[in-house]
Amino acid sequence: MTITQLTEDLSVSPQITVDNLQALADLGFQTLINNRPDGEADDQPSAQSLSEAAAEMGMTYLHIPVKPNEFNKTNVALFRDALMQSPKPALAFCRTGRRSTTFWALASANTSTLKSILSTLQREGIDIEGIEQHLTTYAAATSEGVASKKYDVVIVGGGAGGIATAASVLKRRRDITIAIVEPKTDHYYQPGWTLVGAGVFSPEQTQRSMKSLIPKGVTWVRDAVSTFDPDKNQVTLRGGDRLSYQYLVAAPGIKLDWEKIEGLTETLGRNCVTSNYDFRTAPYTWDLVKNFKGGRAVFTQPPMPIKCAGAPQKALYLSCHHWEQSGNLSNVDVSLYNSGAVLFGVGDYVPALEAYIQRYNAALNFGHTLSAVDGSTKKAWFTTPDCNTTTEVEFDMLHVSPPQSAPDFIRNSPLANTEGWIDVSAETLRHTRYDNVFALGDACSAPNAKTAAAVRKQAPVVASNLTALLAGEAMAAAYDGYGSCPLTVEKGKIVLAEFGYGGKLLPSMPAWINDGTSPTRAAWWLKTKLLPPIYFDLMLKGREWMAGPQRLPAATDKNQSTASVTS
Ligand code: FAD
Repeated sequence: MTITQLTEDLSVSPQITVDNLQALADLGFQTLINNRPDGEADDQPSAQSLSEAAAEMGMTYLHIPVKPNEFNKTNVALFRDALMQSPKPALAFCRTGRRSTTFWALASANTSTLKSILSTLQREGIDIEGIEQHLTTYAAATSEGVASKKYDVVIVGGGAGGIATAASVLKRRRDITIAIVEPKTDHYYQPGWTLVGAGVFSPEQTQRSMKSLIPKGVTWVRDAVSTFDPDKNQVTLRGGDRLSYQYLVAAPGIKLDWEKIEGLTETLGRNCVTSNYDFRTAPYTWDLVKNFKGGRAVFTQPPMPIKCAGAPQKALYLSCHHWEQSGNLSNVDVSLYNSGAVLFGVGDYVPALEAYIQRYNAALNFGHTLSAVDGSTKKAWFTTPDCNTTTEVEFDMLHVSPPQSAPDFIRNSPLANTEGWIDVSAETLRHTRYDNVFALGDACSAPNAKTAAAVRKQAPVVASNLTALLAGEAMAAAYDGYGSCPLTVEKGKIVLAEFGYGGKLLPSMPAWINDGTSPTRAAWWLKTKLLPPIYFDLMLKGREWMAGPQRLPAATDKNQSTASVTS
């Protein structure tokens, strides 16, 4: 088996067999990418047999087959996504390794220069003839090549915050250039994952292609930002290119620290260990719940801050409700292990939630942080705040909400505050040190609940303030800290927590329609029927229905109090 290392993250090789897998695992490969269609040769192991063997060894396995000379934008994008999103290092293989090498070269074409790609190949003694031709043909056939360019506005992240802000800026100014830097080809409506985990939504209802959501007129740079140089108004992309901007908006979301829990990544999605925090494992939650006949069901909640602080317990309530409906609840020993000291941070909602904890007979263990999991023996370990004691807990089903933190490339950048979040004024969302930088969403320092509901109110504030500055005017919009957490206490009822800075209740509806401190059917209807279209068709399209920003009392920045609400 000849293995050629192209980059730190990717090597290529000729065809491998099931017998090679142990050696590859010993070499540290975490992902295998098979680029060969099945059935090319009689002695070729099938994709299925390799996939099963890789799964047994805990390796990620992807099949992205390509016939020689049939490279196109779609399969190159698949290969690029596989490289970006799969555990590293990865090994790609085909009959000789040449198709995998060509895939890498084409996938790198939008971030690296032709010269650097070819010099990598030459360094490894790979014949570049043919690959060079593929690169030229591919570059001509696609418009993916991105040279160093200047935009009026560069937005980092094509998630909830990035796309909503681009749409809201365009609504105010159509005559400016905007680029969104986003590596993923799919966009996810993450609030729907709780419902996927309860069998209410299908996974597909929460997934849209990124292309379909990037607003018309906005350039999508399919890459990831790696560093910021705010003194030069530039960002560097992972491939080395630089983008210049007049204004920067950073919305790269929060980092899920799965690997901080020993043994978790090896077992997540198997061995009855699941999480609604990942698109790939949310359906597994529902599989486990609907087939669960009894035993210990353990739910975990990590230290704050996390996105959607209610999501860990939403999974518990909906699971319990299903077991109650199916007559199984009395056979289930349910517990929540919560790093925090309270069920929910805003006290007004706690009595309603406690009533459900009692109804479902769930045990609450505060001050317990998940530290390790062994899926094969179905054991989990929790530490207490002083870390002096470790509790071993056996489970028959484990739902993990992972610890979360600021993304590393933010934490290590000049934009970060001491905790790693992008340091912004809580009201204007403008950076505290760089006047032409804004941030919103889960990665910013504003002390609101990290939710898409918060983003819905933040995006118009950023768009309004940024376009005011572009026009040479003073900023006038303020964010009041609004965030919302629809606590799905049963299938059909929700405690709709809506609050702003300092835990101030900010209900969107009068109490006679929906009293947020009690479970209501109206809120369930809102969550399941109304909020997805509000997200996709209003918020991501710049239609700011009930999301107009408050107005700063004077047209100044930073920490001023707010006046009356305007729409
Ligand atoms: P995201 O939407 O996560 O987007 C970040 C984007 O940045 C991603 O597309 C990512 O690929 C991209 N990115 C990352 N790194 C880079 C880089 N280096 N360069 C370029 N791009 C990069 N919210 C609610 O309001 N209500 C709910 O009921 C609710 N429930 C939830 C349940 C679950 C299980 C989860 C996981 C979340 C839930 N949320 C809920 C939270 C909500 O989804 C997030 O708060 C929201 O998506 C944050 O938006 P964002 O733009 O900050 O981040």
